[in-house]
Amino acid sequence: MLRTMALRDTIIPIADVRSLAIPAPHPGISPALTDTRRRTLRDLRISVTDRCNFRCTYCMPKEVFDADYAFLPHEALLSFEEIVRVATIAHGLGMEKIRLTGGEPLLRRGLEDLIAKLTTALPGIDIALTTNGSALKAKARALKAAGLKRITVSLDSLNDATFRRMNDVDFPVAKVLDAIDAAAEAGLGPVKINMVVKRGVNDHEIVDVARHFRGSGHIVRFIEFMDVGATNGWRMDDVIPSAEVVRRIGAKFPLVVADPHYTGEVAERWKYVDGAGEIGVISSVTEAFCSTCTRARLSTDGQLFTCLFAEKGYDLKQFLRGGGSNDDIRNAMTGIWQHRADRYSEIRTAETAKARKVEMSFIGG
Ligand code: SAM
Repeated sequence: MLRTMALRDTIIPIADVRSLAIPAPHPGISPALTDTRRRTLRDLRISVTDRCNFRCTYCMPKEVFDADYAFLPHEALLSFEEIVRVATIAHGLGMEKIRLTGGEPLLRRGLEDLIAKLTTALPGIDIALTTNGSALKAKARALKAAGLKRITVSLDSLNDATFRRMNDVDFPVAKVLDAIDAAAEAGLGPVKINMVVKRGVNDHEIVDVARHFRGSGHIVRFIEFMDVGATNGWRMDDVIPSAEVVRRIGAKFPLVVADPHYTGEVAERWKYVDGAGEIGVISSVTEAFCSTCTRARLSTDGQLFTCLFAEKGYDLKQFLRGGGSNDDIRNAMTGIWQHRADRYSEIRTAETAKARKVEMSFIGG
């Protein structure tokens, strides 16, 4: 059963959580929560704002996210207390890792307070942040002090002209490089660095980026350009397969594949044979990893999504703001996860790429 809600200029169907039949719990031992493909819930990505100060052409193109674009009003955003409540319930269902993202998460005022609240409510939780780095230098120490464990900084080029062209707001690369140093100095290293590779735009810089961070302790992850959302004009021809990335870097600096840290790790790890560290490749397009996906996403306005490429989310805010109990929310999340059957990257075609998928800035990258 679907209802629809006008969200900005998009119509996003929201599945009615209450229509999901929730199997009765097993008596005695409580088995791990699994979906229809036996995947567990281990990671929660939380979009704390749908706004960003960059207009990366592959994510929030200027032509769409312009001055007239209707971002969510502040009252629609989940409060820090509401986020902590959902995260605590998710933790009870097996979730072990939180990633704060967006939009640009450091635009959300007091983000360090949210981190402190999460680490107080869930001591020992693995909490990470993905940021474009533009506001990181000034905030790195406060984030670390609040309990942030790990950080990922997006950096698509070392060349200032390419970088400014890709972020499309003329932001200089030097500031992001400074921010990466500041994060490491604050104790947030090794920093992970995300480079989205787009053919003909920055693929000629793959080896330069690898060379720059070799031996630094930081880990660059080369990400295949994905058909997230419905506005980035994705075409398969623009994707550089990860195998090609590994081949190009390996031709210069020999690489050997490394074991994953855990089952379901998104990035495939490759180590430099000479011991200068490692890189990762994220191949959602050419090597789908749906079968081991343990991620749920909480949108800025409190919908739960079980796939980055989803067209609909499940409205948890109706419980959060409608007097729902923790049991209500737990039952809803259990039902959503147990009904999960998505495997978008396994069935991607040029046609599916045109679907009205929810924007990544809204559900959290
Ligand atoms: N604003 C933050 C940032 O720039 O890191 C967090 C949000 S951003 C949506 C999260 C990550 O998604 C970034 O590393 C970004 O490069 C990546 N991303 C966005 N659109 C993408 C696309 N079409 N294909 C692959 N990665 C993408």
